[in-house]
Order: sequence, then C-alpha cells, then structure tokens
Amino acid sequence: MADVRELIIIGGGPAGYTAALYAARANMRPLVIEGFAWGGQLMITSDVENFPGYPEGVLGPKLMEEFRTQAGRFGAEFVTDDVTRVDFSERPFTVVVGDDEYRAEIVIVATGASARQLGLESERGLQGKGVSYCAVCDAAFFRGKEVVVVGGGDSAMEEAIFLTKFANSVVVVHRRGEFRASPIMLDRARANERISFEVPYVVEEVLDAGEGRVGGVRLRHVETDEAKGVPAQGVFVAIGHDPNTAIFLDQLDHDEDGYLITQPGSTATNVPGVFAAGDVVDYVYRQAVTAAGMGCMAALDAERWLAARHGHPEAALAGPR
Ligand code: NAP
Repeated sequence: MADVRELIIIGGGPAGYTAALYAARANMRPLVIEGFAWGGQLMITSDVENFPGYPEGVLGPKLMEEFRTQAGRFGAEFVTDDVTRVDFSERPFTVVVGDDEYRAEIVIVATGASARQLGLESERGLQGKGVSYCAVCDAAFFRGKEVVVVGGGDSAMEEAIFLTKFANSVVVVHRRGEFRASPIMLDRARANERISFEVPYVVEEVLDAGEGRVGGVRLRHVETDEAKGVPAQGVFVAIGHDPNTAIFLDQLDHDEDGYLITQPGSTATNVPGVFAAGDVVDYVYRQAVTAAGMGCMAALDAERWLAARHGHPEAALAGPR
C-alpha cells in the first residue's frame, strides 16, 4: 500500500505549480502529477507579454519551466505522467497513474482546459508562429496586420472585436450561416467596419508564408466546395475550450460543459479535501495569472483544511511564506 501523503496536485500548469510552490513552502511535501505534456496551454504559445514581472516578455515554455523549477526548489516532487483514475469516495484519496497508485489526504485538481483545435497539420506546425488560441494574449503582435478568426460563438466575436484594436482587418470564418454567438455580440461585430465575414466556410489549410510564419488560410465553401485563399499574418482559432475533467466527472460536481464547480469564494469542491483551481473551474478569465492566483488559493485552502482536521486550525496560515 502506498504511503499516504498530505497533498497530491494533479496538473502541471500555472495553477498546479503555484499550488505546489505554496504547499511546498508550507511543508506539505506536495507530489505534482503534472501530466506527460506538462506545462499546459502556455507550451503552445511563444511570447507571453502579459505575465507580470516580465517587462520584456517571456516565452511560454520558458515561463512554465520557471514555475516548475521554483516549486521544485522548495521540495515539490513531480511525476511526469497522466493520471488515469482517481477515487475520492474514501479517505485517503487514491490517484492512479498507469500501474502506480498514490494516496493523499488532500487532492488539488488543476488539470486546466484545452483550446479546441481545428485538427489540421498545418495548424499544428504554425502554433505560436501566427496561429493563436488567445487574442487577449497575442493580439498586440498583429498591429497593422490582417488576421483571421475562426468560430461563430461569443468567443469568436469577442476576439474579433478585440483584435480590431490592433489589426487592420479581421475576417471571421464560420462553418454555418447561423451563429451561436449572442445577437448583441454578433451585432457589435457586424457593425465594426474592420470586421468582415466568410460563411459558410471551413479552413482547410493554414498557409505558410515561408520562414515558418502564417501567410493566410485556404477556405472551402461548405455547400459549393468552392475554394479560396484569404491572406493573413495571424489565425485566431476561437472554437471553444474543453475542460480536462473526464476522469473526475463521476465524482466531482460540474456544470453541463464539464467545468468543475467550487464553492463561491473558495476552491473547495463538493468532496471535502478535494480542491480545484485554474481553467478547470474558470471559463471566464482563462489567464495564466488568474490560474496562478487560484492555485495559490487552493494551497492555502488545503493547508487550512488540513490544520482544522488535525485539530489546530489556528496554526494554518500563521507561518512565513
Ligand atoms: P461555443 O459557444 O461553443 O462556440 C464555438 C464555435 O466554434 C461555434 O460557432 C462552433 O460552430 C464553432 N466550432 C466548433 N468546433 C469547430 C470546428 N472544429 N471547426 C470550425 N468551427 C467549429 O464556444 P465559445 O464561443 O468559446 O463560448 C463558450 C461559452 O462562453 C458560451 O456560453 C459563450 O456564451 C460564453 N462566452 C461569453 C462571452 C461574453 O458574453 N462576452 C464571451 C466569450 C464566451 P457551430 O456553431 O457550427 O457548432
């Protein structure tokens, strides 16, 4: 039977590593099961210019490496693999990774969400080189440029409108004549003279301008099969996100889209001793800095919960950080 740890953190993105940093400094010896592809969504980003403390910007993968190193410096341990199963029905909780089983009094779930991708090889090849999944993060790189936004929901409209602050022209490509976006968002986008629409079209290929930079997209009309090219230096894919929660859905409360539900003002889930932080809960802000903030909250909540359970709640949060 595996040793019982105080804390296991599932997920190696900004929320998970920040939770690990705080928990390690509170002597909880956290084990971070960070995922085979640790680092989360910032691993498919290039320059990050909106993370505080980096006035010159930082590469996404570099930032995540620094998060990880900082947590490790205080004793966080890492398992670089994916969790296959959890059992939160009895304490200590069980977290299974393939043939290995880990047990802990507390679990923090920070598995994040994944931006949906179009699934094109050309899209994958140009990620971070003009293909982006976050206009808030990357719009400023496209000042005076032409960009394409793919999607027909509120995110696509919001991103298209935001992008007009920087880009000269924004072409929204959507696969249907009807839009999922709310009428008010759609009207706002339609009223913006820098935004035009191509419907019903799908993106068949993201075109490489050479030197590994986006040069445009090749579209196909859904009804007539007509093909056409649209020149662009940036392609923003805004077709939704999926929370990485499949292994938790039968045990943790979640909304209809699979995002975990926490108690207001807290990171506590419906299972006492299980906390959740970052994009796995938050579908509104979705920023590295907000996820990191929630990771910190989860570690503090975990520490407080453990101290209360051990009969000395006054000791929690009293130590230096
Ligand atoms: P969404 O509402 O699920 O819309 C996704 C859009 O992407 C749909 O138009 C969908 O087309 C399209 N799409 C999905 N997969 C595709 C694919 N493989 N290829 C091409 N197109 C594809 O997602 P969202 O826009 O991210 O919004 C998620 C939730 O957040 C919604 O409830 C939304 O209202 C909310 N939100 C609100 C605001 C706001 O109020 N300011 C801003 C952002 C998001 P189909 O329509 O054909 O399926």
